[in-house]
Amino acid sequence: MLDDLRELYQEVILDHGKSPRNFRRPETFSREAVGNNPMCGDALVIYLSLDDDQTITDVAFQGKGCAISMASASMMTEVLKGMSVEKAETLFQAFHLMCTGDDDAPQALDSFDEETVERLRMLAGVRQFPMRVKCATLAWHTMDAAVNGSQEISTE
Ligand code: ZN
Repeated sequence: MLDDLRELYQEVILDHGKSPRNFRRPETFSREAVGNNPMCGDALVIYLSLDDDQTITDVAFQGKGCAISMASASMMTEVLKGMSVEKAETLFQAFHLMCTGDDDAPQALDSFDEETVERLRMLAGVRQFPMRVKCATLAWHTMDAAVNGSQEISTE
């Protein structure tokens, strides 16, 4: 178990958890949504800026929670910047499949670059720890809610 945990909390995840990227509330944004994971106590807000072509021009977050939830949000903001909303939704679905263990390498990922896929794969290691899946997917669920006009989601 300890070895597996060490593998899970890889250096990259720890680094993102400790110093999250895009951890701020932008002065202007188009959408925001609040996400709560009561099981672990993770709570975050996602801020999205979209242009007229439905491209994500900026994405940022604030909140508090375990290292996995913060690292996942941090890595998500890096991955989504500059991406169309449609692609972001595709990525969310693929990531969710990876985390729940239904599909280790969803075909939908073929159209994304190596670096993006690699980051998702790193986080998808949580599937060995069902309790942690909600931590890793919280930011993505919240982003999805923001895109679809919901202002709040809970993993319960
Ligand atoms: Zn958590």
